[in-house]
Amino acid sequence: MDLSLTEEQIALATTAREFTRKEIIPKAGHHDETGEFPTEILKKAWETGLMNIEIPEAYGGLCGSCLDNCLVQEEVSFGCSGINTSMAANSLGATPLLVAGTDEQKQKYLSRLTSELTFCAYCCSEPDAGSDVAGMRTRVTKHGDDYVLNGQKRWITNGGVASFYTVFATFDPALKHKGIACFVVDASTPGVKAGRKEHKMGQRASNTTDVIFEDCKIPKSALVGTEDSGFKVAMKTFDRSRPWIAATAAGVIRRSLEESRAYALERKTFGVPIAQHQAIQFMLAEMAISYEATRLLTHKAAWQVDKGDLSAITSAYAKAYGADAAMRASTDAVQIFGGYGYTKEYPVEKLMRDAKLLQIYEGTSQIQRVVIARNVLGGK
Ligand SMILES: Cc1cc2nc3c(=O)[nH]c(=O)nc-3n(C[C@H](O)[C@H](O)[C@H](O)COP(=O)(O)OP(=O)(O)OC[C@H]3O[C@@H](n4cnc5c(N)ncnc54)[C@H](O)[C@@H]3O)c2cc1C
Repeated sequence: MDLSLTEEQIALATTAREFTRKEIIPKAGHHDETGEFPTEILKKAWETGLMNIEIPEAYGGLCGSCLDNCLVQEEVSFGCSGINTSMAANSLGATPLLVAGTDEQKQKYLSRLTSELTFCAYCCSEPDAGSDVAGMRTRVTKHGDDYVLNGQKRWITNGGVASFYTVFATFDPALKHKGIACFVVDASTPGVKAGRKEHKMGQRASNTTDVIFEDCKIPKSALVGTEDSGFKVAMKTFDRSRPWIAATAAGVIRRSLEESRAYALERKTFGVPIAQHQAIQFMLAEMAISYEATRLLTHKAAWQVDKGDLSAITSAYAKAYGADAAMRASTDAVQIFGGYGYTKEYPVEKLMRDAKLLQIYEGTSQIQRVVIARNVLGGK
């Protein structure tokens, strides 16, 4: 067994680490405060080769692996998981095309992402259907050779800034998961509009909006996969994307640990640095354990994706453990900082607000446990 990274992977992670230190950390507070979309940072990240990592060379991408993507996302999330989410949403929006798209669709849409800084988004969740993907209501109907979409998607990362959307819609809600199809839709298509930007608690550098479809006519060529394969495409996408969330968690935990360690060595109570109190030491030790465990679970899940053995279970382990560990580590970081941790003067309160989203999007912590429990019980 060899857990070491290749020279190329070490170089990629080093590039991402330097980029984060220089371009993200100094500006993360500004984007958190204002909620301004970080276009300039993303433009530089795109130029540096930190976006669209898993797109094949044939479409102008880096043809990187899921593990490569995880390495970059951990580094970027060390600086700001909200900025990472904006970058990762491009990977998420593109993945249905990687999973089930035709060569023509990939040429048209994936090449768009690699030829200039362009965004895309993944439109699955709805106002009344998040965890229950098969309960979606956005309708697709057939009109001759065309399809027509009607419905409302909610919580769409990169909504409003995306140039195209991968959209899931049902031919008939009564058919549940068997009625769902996936489509790729240009944002400029008549009948597509983005709603207002959500005013979020954390990850405020990412753009989250509704995306609304009103009599939106799209051609036959917009269908990704088959008319009954949308649910499978959505699930396969999550199997590939959940390791990224775990990698994001690893970045948040490492930052929580580094900030806490530095503060604990400096802050004194009762005449000694707080790092000498065992209660503080144990919180630091827990952070170190959870960083190591999250990183190992992430790399295992990514390795499994990369060897073509998509596994809902390994991805669920990594996402569930990592998200909860990041929430715990960032909360403990605030605790270690005491009253100062509760102010915007220090970066740890942002880590805590940002971490909360990791337990919610791309399948909540409860849904990961539903997947894991189903596996444990073997359908019994
Ligand atoms: C900032 C942000 C960005 C997002 N980005 C995207 C995006 O780009 N694209 C996209 O499609 N979606 C996106 N989402 C949506 C996200 O995936 C959903 O919010 C998430 O899946 C949960 O769905 P919900 O909010 O409808 O909660 P619900 O499904 O209503 O769940 C509410 C609560 O019930 C629990 N619950 C539900 N079902 C069960 C069950 N069977 N067993 C136990 N507990 C259960 C949940 O865990 C949760 O605690 C984003 C969300 C946010 C907040």
